[in-house]
Amino acid sequence: MCDIIWCKKDKGGKPCDTINYLDPYCFWNWEGKINCAECGTVYYIHMIQGFMYMGPEERPGEKSDTSPLYADKPYDGYANYRPGVEGRTRPFQCIPRAKLLGVADMVKFSVRGRPVRGWRPQPPSAGLAGSQGFNWDIQKLSPEVWEGYQKKLAKGEVKDW
Ligand SMILES: [Zn+2]
Repeated sequence: MCDIIWCKKDKGGKPCDTINYLDPYCFWNWEGKINCAECGTVYYIHMIQGFMYMGPEERPGEKSDTSPLYADKPYDGYANYRPGVEGRTRPFQCIPRAKLLGVADMVKFSVRGRPVRGWRPQPPSAGLAGSQGFNWDIQKLSPEVWEGYQKKLAKGEVKDW
């Protein structure tokens, strides 16, 4: 699901009527200018958590920061601009913007203070294909997590609810 800019700019007596797709990864929290793939009109938008907070507002004479990934013209059959058309759409690079490429948060305790195994690397383990099954000998395999758990227990930071 993504937002769109339906360009209605007058172009030779007819509206541009091009739909510029704002793919969610890149525009979810974004402020900047984007061009219409057809007529090149620059629009300012400010999107917060996927919600169009400001815009789209025309910014004549300004340069766009980026382009839509894809655009089409619903009143014109299947006419469209696929990704990577020079000066109209940007290439598809299979990745979100650099700012959103984070590192995984290695959580060793749940919000209730119980040890969890959603971190890596897991210690060399036992069981079928190292799966450990339902048995996690935490004291033996992950002594530092066990120690942390004991400290949390002592401080009363472990809850059931
Ligand atoms: Zn346009």
